[in-house]
Amino acid sequence: MKKNFFISLLLILVLSLSVLATNVILFIGDGMGTHQISVANYISEKLYNEQLCFLSFSQQSFVNTANASGSITDSAAAATALATGVRTNNSVIGLDANSRVQKNLSEKAKEKGKAVGIVTDDYVTDATPAGFVAHTSSRSNTKEISLAYLDLQPDVFMGMGVDAFTASTRRKNGWDDRDLLKELTDTGYSIAYNLSDLEKTSSHKVAGFFSSLDDVFAKEATTNIQPTLADMTKQALKILSHNEEGFFLMVEASYVDRGGHYNDVVGVVHNVLTLNNAVKEAIKFLETNPDTLIVVTADHETGGMSADPATLPEMLGKFEDVTQLPLDIDNTIGSSPSKEWVKEVFRRSGIKNVSEEDLQAISILSPGASRRTKIGQAITKYTGGAKFTTTGHSAQNVALYAIGQQSELFPSKLRNDELGQILARIVTDDGVLNK
Ligand SMILES: [Zn+2]
Repeated sequence: MKKNFFISLLLILVLSLSVLATNVILFIGDGMGTHQISVANYISEKLYNEQLCFLSFSQQSFVNTANASGSITDSAAAATALATGVRTNNSVIGLDANSRVQKNLSEKAKEKGKAVGIVTDDYVTDATPAGFVAHTSSRSNTKEISLAYLDLQPDVFMGMGVDAFTASTRRKNGWDDRDLLKELTDTGYSIAYNLSDLEKTSSHKVAGFFSSLDDVFAKEATTNIQPTLADMTKQALKILSHNEEGFFLMVEASYVDRGGHYNDVVGVVHNVLTLNNAVKEAIKFLETNPDTLIVVTADHETGGMSADPATLPEMLGKFEDVTQLPLDIDNTIGSSPSKEWVKEVFRRSGIKNVSEEDLQAISILSPGASRRTKIGQAITKYTGGAKFTTTGHSAQNVALYAIGQQSELFPSKLRNDELGQILARIVTDDGVLNK
């Protein structure tokens, strides 16, 4: 009798466990404020008859993005808040404001026997993915961040930046003599360098090193070679779902931030659409795996961008004209260009009516960030659709969209560190979660 009672109790426990979020998928649009989403959704609805998929998620909240000193965050402090539930200072990865190590979501998931995935369209050693992997005083400690991947051993990680893992670059930088690619292979990783490698692998442990993922317009030309963010997300889900204990997956779309720094509305919109396509893969996964939570949010806003209702309609006719990002235009312009050459490069990139004043200003600048910003601003002047108030980050709240198991746990207003704490509770939940 007593034994039967315990068996029933066990059954109830097992059944209640099955409705908790076993799999947590966190999407981060780097620099993706609410107006970045609004303008991208306007373009998506008007040009492609499709609302951004995450706008219909059941739970929607606002997240305060401040750092430990209460000021405007960078991606390092923001990723640390989301990954560890603790606010820190800018540039710091995985440590609190007093330099103490704080366990991140990946480590907490591993302790629970869950699989871990890190996917980005930027360098895998960049600040946002680093926040979910490493503990170091500076986001520029690429050596430490690359080694942290070897320590953590995520089941899958993908993005750009193979160089930091090669013996030749490490030697050249005076870091060490280690061949991390070999060490990854020795610890069971299969390494993918293109989409075909990624689709072919049957390994449950995969490192993907790709190139030019930020080149959103090169997609058609290189689609057979390099995966999109959606391709990476789809393959990561396939690999991670082998683990019966579930998984934690972080997926970053990074160019919303860079486009914001360059005040380039076209690049921003393209990357929000890229993120949207990746989220669609997660929704497909949720449909067959209801024990999954999907969260879409941002680390901070970049550019102080606001939709410009007066010029949005004309953006519809110009958005698809633009075929290059500021980075590519900057490279093509090269050093010491004539004003005529600058005009010609803009023309070839689909950007018309650049003022004589802007052509002149661009022709006297050297290649690099400030010229790319001038180029981005010229793109936005051409297409319209938005206005920017800074080339840095802003203090704006960002949005959070959640769907699936336990999505109701997010309050309508929360801080970035609280968001990290709630995610940690969900990831480490053993079935006795108090709401
Ligand atoms: Zn930034």
